[in-house]
Amino acid sequence: MKIALVGIGKIALDQHVPALAASPDFQLAATVSRHGTVAGVAAYTDIAVMLLDNPDIAIVSLCLPPRPRFEPARAALEAGRHVMLEKPPGATLSECFELRALAREKNVALYATWHSREAAAVITARDWLAGRQITSAHIRWRESVRKWHPGQDWVFDPGGMGVFDPGINALSILTEILPFKIHLTSAELETPINRQTPIAARLAFSRNISAEFDWREESGEVWSIEVQTDAGRLELLNGGARMRIDGIETPPLAEGPTGEYPRLYAAMARFADERHIEMDLSPMRHVSDAFTLGAHITADAFEW
Ligand code: NAP
Repeated sequence: MKIALVGIGKIALDQHVPALAASPDFQLAATVSRHGTVAGVAAYTDIAVMLLDNPDIAIVSLCLPPRPRFEPARAALEAGRHVMLEKPPGATLSECFELRALAREKNVALYATWHSREAAAVITARDWLAGRQITSAHIRWRESVRKWHPGQDWVFDPGGMGVFDPGINALSILTEILPFKIHLTSAELETPINRQTPIAARLAFSRNISAEFDWREESGEVWSIEVQTDAGRLELLNGGARMRIDGIETPPLAEGPTGEYPRLYAAMARFADERHIEMDLSPMRHVSDAFTLGAHITADAFEW
């Protein structure tokens, strides 16, 4: 299948382009980006022109930040193309509902991806938890914004979500592995005095679940989820790539392609065939609730 990539920036070049190059299902046939290009691939700056010129491109994968992503996503669906969205699937929940309704109307596939759910140990962790009583869980998601988002001011602009941009990855794993629904009960959001979105957040959920996200961690990444059960303690480490049970490293039982993005594209190929809509908004709902319910704390000014 021919596919177009929209928004040729950090994640497109780090992950999408290599995953597509190795995919047996896709041929990268066009890009749409104001500045970014991929060598040897037809480059457009206007999605309307790309769609008109390429009626044979069946799939459009959008790697833009969430705020500027809605209009190109809508245009691609309007043109009857299957659409794949980077996480988070929109700047607001309403945008996501609108895209989902349009995909239904046009009878095309829509895939709101959560790449962290494809990390190697996530499904094994989910299956291990399925038969156990969960008594508590805690997420620690700490990293340096300077290292992981160098100069990306959009993360601190309205709609950029701040520390929830990585934090939503943790929530996407949590909502995948828990065998029950949870809801946010309180939150604290620390926002630098000169910025619009939080640099740190602490969240409390029902059922004894909690989370801490912090972008000011300069001594290495901590991307872990610890779950206590009546029959042992599960730790997901390295963003879901590794797991330990009662402190003992446990190799995941992986099926399908290796790597988060190859797995996303393998799923997209299936969804396109089936004209399936895959849009689980639960991670985004929790973030939205944190912005609704969270107490706001002013933090020190942030400069890159
Ligand atoms: P990015 O590099 O800052 O942006 C991607 C590209 O989008 C830019 O190169 C730019 O291309 C275009 N763009 C940026 N702002 C725009 C605007 N206001 N209007 C129109 N186009 C704009 O961002 P990224 O890090 O790749 O992240 C993109 C998405 O992927 C985000 O939702 C993020 O959460 C997700 N993601 C990122 C990572 C990561 O490690 N960075 C990992 C997983 C998922 P042109 O200037 O060429 O138009």
